[in-house]
Amino acid sequence: MELEFYDEEKHDYFLEIYRKHSRSPTGQEKQFFRPLIEELVEEISEETGISSDFKLYFAITDESSLSDRLTINRYVKGFSYANFMEGFDLDVIMIRAVRDRKNWKACLINMLAHEMAHQQYYNITKNSPYKIWENLLFEGHAMNTAEKATEKLGTDWKPHYRSDKQIEINSRVIADLLDKNRVYDSEDIFCNGERPCPKAEGYNISYQLVKNISENESINADKLLKIPEEELKELISTNLSNILK
Ligand SMILES: [Zn+2]
Repeated sequence: MELEFYDEEKHDYFLEIYRKHSRSPTGQEKQFFRPLIEELVEEISEETGISSDFKLYFAITDESSLSDRLTINRYVKGFSYANFMEGFDLDVIMIRAVRDRKNWKACLINMLAHEMAHQQYYNITKNSPYKIWENLLFEGHAMNTAEKATEKLGTDWKPHYRSDKQIEINSRVIADLLDKNRVYDSEDIFCNGERPCPKAEGYNISYQLVKNISENESINADKLLKIPEEELKELISTNLSNILK
């Protein structure tokens, strides 16, 4: 892994969604985070078998740009891009994090494992997920991988959307969205916003769906990614009714 700290001036071309709530780390923060992140990435790589051959940009979350009462996973965020996407020389992970809020470290470990699983998805499928059905797999694979990795690393915090509770959404509502593209606005099942998923329940659906498929079909999460596309889509639509109403 090649670690580079975010620099507000030098990286002014970075994505708005990342820059909006990020600031450059201070010298002390760099000293604190460099060895920690290097160690965590190596540990996650050992536990999951996911390659650590990527570039990681690290920023500190600009807390003054966010409301003070948000959950920790709004302060610790990650984004992943594959090298085959436009404009990237290497696989890239962008993280922004804090170290002054409850559960920050466990959340950071979870986020790193989640983003590394996204890199694994890109490397196996050689595909950027645009459709909702692909994103159910993309996010579900990441959440199940992060769950296993964080358990092995001994963290007891987990995001609220990694829950086994019954999700109160009708399976047909989601089935009708499978061929739509994921969009980054309030109508999307992965965003906080409107119906059918006002609290980004798409993540919880993804988590349960991939877990359910892995258990029902006895295939682990990374084998799942190697299944041919049509068969995968079919698995997703048939298993939706197992986890939803
Ligand atoms: Zn994700």
